[in-house]
Amino acid sequence: MTALLEVEDLSVSFPLQRGLFRRGARLRAVDGVSFEVAAGEILGLVGESGSGKSTTGRALMRLVEPDSGAVRLRGTELTALGGRELRRHRRHIQMVFQDPYSSLDPSMVVAESVGEPLEVHEGLRGKVRDERVRDLLVRVGLSPRHLERYPYEFSGGQRQRLAIARALAVDPDVVICDEAVSALDVSTQNQIINLLEELRAELGTSYLFISHDLSVVRQLAQRVAVMYLGRLVEEGPSQRLYAHPAHPYTEALLSAVPVPNPGVQRRRERIVLPGDPPDPTDPPGGCTFHPRCPYAMDVCRSVVPEPTPVDGGGTVRCHLHTSGPVLAGGSVLELR
Ligand code: SF4
Ligand code: MG
Repeated sequence: MTALLEVEDLSVSFPLQRGLFRRGARLRAVDGVSFEVAAGEILGLVGESGSGKSTTGRALMRLVEPDSGAVRLRGTELTALGGRELRRHRRHIQMVFQDPYSSLDPSMVVAESVGEPLEVHEGLRGKVRDERVRDLLVRVGLSPRHLERYPYEFSGGQRQRLAIARALAVDPDVVICDEAVSALDVSTQNQIINLLEELRAELGTSYLFISHDLSVVRQLAQRVAVMYLGRLVEEGPSQRLYAHPAHPYTEALLSAVPVPNPGVQRRRERIVLPGDPPDPTDPPGGCTFHPRCPYAMDVCRSVVPEPTPVDGGGTVRCHLHTSGPVLAGGSVLELR
């Protein structure tokens, strides 16, 4: 795989300002995350809310500044760019949010809001811009006659199509969709998913598809990465990951997802994890999943598992899959 987008060891933290916390305390929202996205590929990024998925997406856009790590697009290190250079490069990564109003100004008509990136990045105005906006509307399945309408005049699904049209206006390499279909009803969700897949096939755009909904991700993504408490705990080809999750957290997440064809595939037992996700301001040591993991061993409490290759593709960070001295010799798992 030739990577179009490379994310290497990305970390993002936020200062905690409330009096409750130690002075200078920070919340590690993203902790050493690495992944790659190939040209024309859809990578799903999944995890519970608060796992750092959105912050990862925003850090790629430089909407939040990473503490460390690198983001490379076609080999250009975005994290090293500033000012004009950064603005010029921003066009290559676009974002679609859960709420279409995050990208569509309610006071602007379609010609202006969808056409804005064309003005900013290509200096297009008037009739030339409008012509391009008409093409974009057709491309996302809307009538080209909508130029003078306001966002409120559209349905939720249509507004999301407008947000996608705006994101695609300047022909980006990568589109980051952050819960882009989560607010829509199931049939509208399916329409938008089909649209994204068509656009990927037609334009070769890559997507980072961020979602808490694993059944939605399964419909779209060729590969999936799973985040827990700011760390990427598993990634791999969708087929392998959905059929044979390697990380106990992925296994638990998937156990809650209905099996698409229960006649063929055995129904999974629903795994209910004990406790809530731990306090991100004071994460547990070792594997941060250990307080909730049904397979936790002594080593899990003190040693952070490194990424280990998985049969069938991808990597996992879990001591059940490392073959270090701790597990050698058939040590018995201590089940909690
Ligand atoms: Fe569970 Fe240990 Fe694996 Fe973490 S490293 S997921 S605690 S078995
Ligand atoms: Mg989020």
